[in-house]
Amino acid sequence: MKAGVIAVQGDVAEHAAAVRNAAAAHDETAEVVEVRDAGIVPDCDVLLMPGGESTTISRLIHREGIAAEIRDHVAAGKPVLATCAGLIVCSTDAKDDRVDPLGLVDVSVDRNAFGRQKDSFEAKIPVTGLDDPFHAVFIRAPAIDDVGDGVETLATVDGRPVAVRDGPVVATAFHPELTDDPRVHDLAFFPESEVVA
Ligand code: GLN
Repeated sequence: MKAGVIAVQGDVAEHAAAVRNAAAAHDETAEVVEVRDAGIVPDCDVLLMPGGESTTISRLIHREGIAAEIRDHVAAGKPVLATCAGLIVCSTDAKDDRVDPLGLVDVSVDRNAFGRQKDSFEAKIPVTGLDDPFHAVFIRAPAIDDVGDGVETLATVDGRPVAVRDGPVVATAFHPELTDDPRVHDLAFFPESEVVA
């Protein structure tokens, strides 16, 4: 399995490790490639859109011609896991002129919505499709406010969606790559089966 991590900015190495672990649980090997230029995404089976700074990621993927390739990847039904800033970039409405969203996940988001008090926090949350709660790490996380028809909410915190699936894209407001638990990567890339932690 060839996994591309969009690496224009953000946390890349952790996702590489997590996708390798998820693949290993299925007796598969993930070859991880870092995507900084156009021409790499078309060869990838799955993609990861990491956290970081959504305004920067958005600007660079459009400038480098990667944005259109990500759209084609999803149009072909191939999986994507988008986390935190990745979710913002994949949304339909980021409510911020500096983000030109890809419109791959039919949700609107509020950047940094959890506010100063809860800037960063951790919570054990139930996630649809996982047997046991997932330890979710939130860092200046966006909130998802409007969820379109056809979007499945996989997890909530305080009644707000924090993980969703829209077709081949799984998007989380939290950072599943920051724990050793590969189950969210597994949900995204091996949707037919589940790994028990
Ligand atoms: N707050 C960041 C943004 O709006 C996202 C933070 C993150 O990815 N951890 O882009």
